[in-house]
This record gives sequence, structure tokens and C-alpha cells, in this order.
Amino acid sequence: MISIHERDLPDGLDLGAIVAIDTETMGLVPQRDRLCLVQLSGGDGNAHLLRIAQGQTEAPNLARLLADPDRLKLFHYGRFDIAVMAHRFGVLARPVWCTKIASKLTRTFSDRHGLKQLCQEMLGIDLSKHQQMSDWGAETLTEAQAAYAASDVLHLHALRAEFLKRLEREGRVALAQACFDFLPDRAALDLAGWPDIDIFSH
Ligand code: MN
Repeated sequence: MISIHERDLPDGLDLGAIVAIDTETMGLVPQRDRLCLVQLSGGDGNAHLLRIAQGQTEAPNLARLLADPDRLKLFHYGRFDIAVMAHRFGVLARPVWCTKIASKLTRTFSDRHGLKQLCQEMLGIDLSKHQQMSDWGAETLTEAQAAYAASDVLHLHALRAEFLKRLEREGRVALAQACFDFLPDRAALDLAGWPDIDIFSH
């Protein structure tokens, strides 16, 4: 089931200990392109689509969830989502987990780490990406947009479960955890003016 919310999550909504999150924006530059939609799922097959209004800078229930140390925020390429929400609401999501990083640490045989690729290969699920580049700033969400946006958070729990096994198998659990621990700060560096610079390079 897909629920649509305006401006903030409803009071008392409990999405559990691990919350899959994705965002849709007007583009790929966090400082330029406004956040339009935050999608969330507790991994139970339900998706919550939170519409963010033009100029909106506060969403207290969402912000509380992002900062909650007892709730793991699960992303695919969280670097962008974390940056865009930090820019808008002033809250850095933490702790976090990222299926794209897990993929890079375990699927070293491939250079394809997109969500569509992972869902197909690891879960046997075909994800449509047709609405990826649609106008998320429009007044109303089309049914196709809502279905697409929801599908981006509905499979992250299953992917994580699969990646946990692979990280274990390849002896990279601790390395992955170190990456996840640093990820919010990596997003903060993006916003602070070091977007394309590897601060660890010579
Ligand atoms: Mn998405």
C-alpha cells in the first residue's frame, strides 16, 4: 500500500528499526535542486510518500527519525539523499546503511551498481525506471510517479539482507560499517564545498 503525506510524516507513525529512504528532487545538485519527495518504507511492503512543499524548511517528525540513533536509515546511494535532506532540514541522517556501497564492496566483478541492476540480479525483480526523470515539482503526483517512487524503497530491506551475507562471505563487514559511519560526513563535505574531491588523495 502507498500512503501519501503532505509536509511531514504523521504523528506516531512507527516504521520500525530499519527504515528505507529515498528522495526525488528537481535535479542532482543539492544546493540548487529542491527536494520534492521523500519516500520511506519499514520493509513491510508499504511505502509512505512525503511531499515537500516549495520553500519548506521544517518537517519535525522526519527530522526526528533522521537523527534517531536507534533507527537505521537505509539508502541506495545515500550520499545524495543524506546531503539533500541535510541541506533542506539541517539534519544529518545517522546511523545509515547504503546498498550501493555494499554492492561496490561485494560485487567487484561488476561496474553496474544501479538499483535496477541489483533488484534484477539479486532479487529477480524488474524495476521500471521510466519515471526517474519526470517533473517531481509538479502540483500533483501521477499514479505512475507514485508507483515508481514507492518501488525505490520497497526492496532495500531485501537487498540489505542479501548484501549482509555477501559482506560476511567476503570478510568486508567491518570495512562496510566504517564506510557507513563516514557516509553522513561525506555528504556534509559535499555540501560544504568538497563535492568532487577525494580528501584522502595525495
Ligand atoms: Mn528514486
